[in-house]
Amino acid sequence: MVLELSNDVLEKLEEQNIRLTRRRKAILRALAQEPENHLSAEDIYLKIKQDDDKIGLATVYRTLDLFAQANIIHTVDFGDGCRRFELVSDTTPHYHHHLLCLSCKNITEFAQDLLEDLEHQIEDSTGFCITNHSLRFYGYCHDCQEKE
Ligand SMILES: [Zn+2]
Ligand SMILES: [Zn+2]
Ligand SMILES: [Zn+2]
Repeated sequence: MVLELSNDVLEKLEEQNIRLTRRRKAILRALAQEPENHLSAEDIYLKIKQDDDKIGLATVYRTLDLFAQANIIHTVDFGDGCRRFELVSDTTPHYHHHLLCLSCKNITEFAQDLLEDLEHQIEDSTGFCITNHSLRFYGYCHDCQEKE
């Protein structure tokens, strides 16, 4: 499956002089193919290994760190001891919110920011410059509520 990378990603790579090698491209594609799955470094490694059996997990980690520094991907932590990654969206540059179901453990994404007013209030009253936030909501998804 050929998946083209968005212009936004390509621009960021170019701006920061990050060469798009075959492996880097494969890692970005793995993330772009399954945005809803919040892949870990191991998940990405296992996917890429199918076509590239010489790749090492350390390379995947290094590349993910590079992309995170370049603001191409976000790191997400759902408190399960495993760092996960997702592409930064062109349209919503801040983190989207995650809804974690305590019963089935499914993670639903909520794409709107809705925090702009709060961000401005915090910035006005503290002088702090907010670049991002990470918010998790815990509770029970619609399906699990029906089962109760
Ligand atoms: Zn925001
Ligand atoms: Zn649920
Ligand atoms: Zn997400």
